[in-house]
Amino acid sequence: MKPFHSRTKIVATLGPASAKPDVLYSMFNAGLDVCRLNFSHGSQQDHQAVLDTIKEINKKYKYNVGVLADLQGPKIRIGMVKDGGIHLVNGKLTTITTNECIGNENQIYITYKNFPKDVKAGEIILLDDGKLQMKVISTNLIDEVVCEVVHGGILTSRKGVNLPNTKVSIPSLTPEDRVNLDFVLKNDVQWIGLSFVRRAEDIIELRNIIQSQGKTSRIIAKIEKPEAIANIDEIIEVADGIMVARGDLGVEMPMEEVPLLQKMIVQKCRAASKPVIIATQMLESMITTPRPTRAEVNDVANSVLDGADAVMLSGETSVGEFPLIVIQTMQKIIQNIEQNNYPFNPDKFLKQNSPTFLSDAICDSACFLAKQTKAVGIVSMTLSGYTAFEIASHRPEALIFIFTSNKSLLNTVSLLWGVRGFYYDKFESTDQSILEVNEILKKQKLVKKGDILINTAAIPMEKKGKTNMLKITVVD
Ligand code: PGA
Ligand code: MN
Repeated sequence: MKPFHSRTKIVATLGPASAKPDVLYSMFNAGLDVCRLNFSHGSQQDHQAVLDTIKEINKKYKYNVGVLADLQGPKIRIGMVKDGGIHLVNGKLTTITTNECIGNENQIYITYKNFPKDVKAGEIILLDDGKLQMKVISTNLIDEVVCEVVHGGILTSRKGVNLPNTKVSIPSLTPEDRVNLDFVLKNDVQWIGLSFVRRAEDIIELRNIIQSQGKTSRIIAKIEKPEAIANIDEIIEVADGIMVARGDLGVEMPMEEVPLLQKMIVQKCRAASKPVIIATQMLESMITTPRPTRAEVNDVANSVLDGADAVMLSGETSVGEFPLIVIQTMQKIIQNIEQNNYPFNPDKFLKQNSPTFLSDAICDSACFLAKQTKAVGIVSMTLSGYTAFEIASHRPEALIFIFTSNKSLLNTVSLLWGVRGFYYDKFESTDQSILEVNEILKKQKLVKKGDILINTAAIPMEKKGKTNMLKITVVD
């Protein structure tokens, strides 16, 4: 059982450092809420083994840890280079080619076929997270682009390429993504991340494939391109959740803009009742040391204060030396903020013209009542999960207990701020169900006699409609 149920959730990328069952189990115990599988790395076989391990631990120890399968999307890379690394010198010219070859100081292969057609003289090319920089001198519009090295250094094989000025014409779902998508849909993962989203249509296209296969996986749009920032409202509207992917975002946009973009995106997501994950370099130094830098501790704490649903770990848990200590550290930072000075119940405005206005008003009122009565918990029954998303977006101080007969939804809501899911499938009468779910919480010692609970439900129960009822209960 988790030592402290933080409201802000922890997402950790799994990899060789954390895929072993005993390590993963210790991470679950320390407060991990959602496992991220990064489809930019690893074989399908590796991913299958990890998915099986997660399923086993969840079943054996009654956890509801969710899975986020992260698709690579139109990520551009260079090819292999000779001797494992080449030295690019400032001011020298290098040709970037679309003809596959082992790269050297004079020519480097790029995985992006239309690069010579899409790029223009003067545009910037960033390599390896922006550590190396080149400028386009000329293109033959067919297969070769001559570039000048602006900031040189050692370039190793398969490094990522960012083109902040170029309108990239690669489709949002590559053939490789489609193969991985089939695989993750077969495994019924709860969340699918799409990298380098540019437009709402990118999400709609992915949604159509998911639905055509009769699946219910939800979509996280990774915000890491200037086009996504320009289209942020439309993207939030069609996605189920958002990731502030600061790694690429800070290369594709001026990095000094990222802190305010993070705050802007978190606010918009909360207003739209969509979960938002803050990602990348949160405790980066812990890849190799057991204590983070003070600046990293501040970054996690400030992301919690911004109102993120979840904070994410990448290399720290996938390849780092201290995957368990990283989770414990993140948990402690979150806990300290939430127990001392968390901005619970920030203002949230109801949208009068929304088709869900009436249910939204119930959720808003549930949070208001919980605050007024100093309720310990808000207890909701839901089939679609809608109420969980809506109540979480109010960031109430009361704990959020969600009861559902939809087993997969239990793992889905693990990503949502403050939400804890419980299985319940006896929806006979409203009175009886409310008694029973409150009793389950009491049995698990999550509430005690005399505690105030706010119950919401959809009545009549058998109609399985939208949330329309609110009740104050004193636990006896
Ligand atoms: P990545 O996405 O780790 O898949 O690159 C996160 C980011 O860019 O921050
Ligand atoms: Mn990225």
